[in-house]
Amino acid sequence: MVSADTIVAISTPPGRGGLGVVRLSGPRALEIGISLIKLPKLPLETQRATLGTFSDPESGRVVDQVVVTCFRQPHSSTAEDVVEISCHGAPVILRRLVECCFERGARAAEPGEFTLRAFLNGRIDLTQAEAVRDLIESQTLYQARVAAQQMEGSVSARLQPHKQVLLDLIARLEAGIDFAEDDVAVLEWQEILARLDRIRTDLEKLVEGYKYGRIVREGLTLAIVGRPNVGKSSLFNCLLNEERAIVTPIPGTTRDLVAETASVGGIPLRFVDTAGVRETQDAVEKIGVERTMGAIADSDLRLLVVDASEPWTAEDAHLLHKLRPLGALLVALNKSDLPPRVSLAELEPSLGADRSAGVAPPQFVRTSALTGEGIQEVKEKILETAAPTRGLGPEGELITNLRHQQLMQDSLRGLAKGRQAAEQQLPHELLLLDLYDTLRPLDLITGATYADDILDIIFKTFCVGK
Ligand code: GDP
Repeated sequence: MVSADTIVAISTPPGRGGLGVVRLSGPRALEIGISLIKLPKLPLETQRATLGTFSDPESGRVVDQVVVTCFRQPHSSTAEDVVEISCHGAPVILRRLVECCFERGARAAEPGEFTLRAFLNGRIDLTQAEAVRDLIESQTLYQARVAAQQMEGSVSARLQPHKQVLLDLIARLEAGIDFAEDDVAVLEWQEILARLDRIRTDLEKLVEGYKYGRIVREGLTLAIVGRPNVGKSSLFNCLLNEERAIVTPIPGTTRDLVAETASVGGIPLRFVDTAGVRETQDAVEKIGVERTMGAIADSDLRLLVVDASEPWTAEDAHLLHKLRPLGALLVALNKSDLPPRVSLAELEPSLGADRSAGVAPPQFVRTSALTGEGIQEVKEKILETAAPTRGLGPEGELITNLRHQQLMQDSLRGLAKGRQAAEQQLPHELLLLDLYDTLRPLDLITGATYADDILDIIFKTFCVGK
């Protein structure tokens, strides 16, 4: 299915740069590209960079020296004819070049349209297209690595054997129904169940792995809480400093919440340093405290910082009490380089109160922002607590995409019904319906069957030029 029209877009990010790339794809890509660039010789060699000049067709004046690379269908990223023109990265040049392409009949590419074409032309499947987007958006090298493996087709490769088993079962059962009188070997119920169970075990593992996969893709938020002067900012900086890979201010940060992101074990960890959450009568301050409490509750994980060189205070107890019900909690007994004045035994009464409520106990780490003691341990505990399934399987088998996880769950529901049908030895016609319900969601993951609205949702999140 090769598209009728030729699309064009600037494929490099907006703004000035050393280089900027204009990309064309479609049946007239070569013709349009060549008509605009003066080249030393024709025809253009494919997959080779060729130096040329771009002159404004109106004035005939040279605008820029460019490098042209062409790819002939189907050996291109979209499986169509593709031309990439590298100019100097001045927005005016790039825009003029694109305009000239419009004048010659190309049209502006929609966001993600190059990748959409790659999908529609069978060059990549849906999981690979989604991985392209994740790769572009990755913030850590680890995220990029996982996305790159998915771009190679790791998700589809993982599902393929299960689809094959289902197809095989379906074919055998259909044949048994259609040719009942003939001598088609009928599968034993036990054998059917065994096959379904193998699929179930594996899909369940993949779905479970999403807990960690989601974190890999989206990162984690850690709220740092504690009374003034216990060392929150110092710890925050320690945690950031070690791997200052991607420290960026997060948009939407409010005045009283400072958020920065660092890579911890390849996972983007967003630290929210919260201003004090003390009891207050002041109306304005109350709003601030409520907002802070909201951010703390929304975090994946909380770190309560205590100054262990001072006696345990009522305010510490109050904070601990407030944080306990919110979920996973780490407690840093900070300033461990100074003589300790807080012992775990002292905290026992505050913990005991919640124990009956069935809340998981907080984890304690002795830290020093001064010497760096315990910082590594805090990081490990963060990953352990928030991502318990981390490292359970090869990263290439990780499900990081909610759409995939939900479809696998749909598939598992079909499978459960199928198992029931097989256990009760219901007629094959009924079992078949369940098997189709199991297979269809898996097909939707890879895009073997798809609905246009799904494509819309996926590709509209791309940037133009991809
Ligand atoms: P925050 O108000 O909780 O953010 O606390 P800060 O990070 O501003 O620290 C308050 C004071 O404690 C500063 O003077 C820090 O230098 C000091 N401090 C922080 N962490 C440590 C630590 O681990 N050991 C020692 N000795 N001093 C610390």
